[in-house]
Amino acid sequence: MIIATERAKRPSDFQPKEKKKIVSAFESDCPFCPGNEHNTPSEIFSYRKFGTEKDKPGWWVRIFPNKFSALAPEVELTRVSEGFFKKMDGYGKHEVIIESPEHNLTLGNMNLKQVEEVFLVYRQRYVELSLEKNIKIIIIFRNHGLAAGTSLIHPHSQLIALPLVPTHIRHLLEEAMRYYDDHGVCVFCDMIKEEQEFKKRVILETESFVAFQPFASKVPFETWILPKKHNAGFGNISVEEAKGLAFVLKEIMGRLYSKLSDPDYNFVLHTAPIKDSNEDYYHWYVQILPRLTTPAGFELGSGVYINTALPEETAEFLK
Ligand SMILES: [Zn+2]
Ligand SMILES: [Zn+2]
Repeated sequence: MIIATERAKRPSDFQPKEKKKIVSAFESDCPFCPGNEHNTPSEIFSYRKFGTEKDKPGWWVRIFPNKFSALAPEVELTRVSEGFFKKMDGYGKHEVIIESPEHNLTLGNMNLKQVEEVFLVYRQRYVELSLEKNIKIIIIFRNHGLAAGTSLIHPHSQLIALPLVPTHIRHLLEEAMRYYDDHGVCVFCDMIKEEQEFKKRVILETESFVAFQPFASKVPFETWILPKKHNAGFGNISVEEAKGLAFVLKEIMGRLYSKLSDPDYNFVLHTAPIKDSNEDYYHWYVQILPRLTTPAGFELGSGVYINTALPEETAEFLK
């Protein structure tokens, strides 16, 4: 990473010039609003009021297959050659988790109970899918705002389950494995210790989690949330841990929401491939990437990001 201090902005300079438009709690043409369930595929699961019918209003968290799924659930997993190249049908699961019936809420301003239920659904669905044959890794993510790749305002996150471990993730795993082989300790466990001692990048710490902005962060306000207890696979977490994560995530999202006026962001839940869920070398975590700057040619060409903010200062600002 390049931290461009001569271009560095003060944390408060990242507030947008124009405020986002206030939207109402219900939008009749939103496919995710209650009453419009017929516009989505049939639900896989929901938390709903006793006595209400599937695919009808009465739910407060709802999950269903993505209508425009990038992947198909029933195809052959055979690689075929096309000359020099190899290809395979697009197998996998792509699901949408509607986090609230209310159109204008987001994780930062929902009540805690609601955010907890969202994380309990993540956990439940993760565990169910990890038992399925051919699923190798599950990625849970959230896109918020146009700069993060979504025009849908209604609060939702997504889950994609893949039949292979992508190169990008394999690289992360290999680096973590290399550190483990050299030091005999998980790199993430060591990073937690370092951040706890240094303190300046830590935003928040609870009994089970620590949230900090990583050293030489990729983008302004990049934030990681790590469980303090070593654990490679998200599927291993207890109900209490899921609730503990909900608390920390809601808190961080709430601060981003109020201090940076609801910035666009992506968050990704990084976890080990299913078969490596109990390994010593990897550690699941949540990465929040606010979209306050736009990666351009240099970032794409080099993989090196120019960050104009110092994580030590932006962490302080959120603290
Ligand atoms: Zn809606
Ligand atoms: Zn660890």
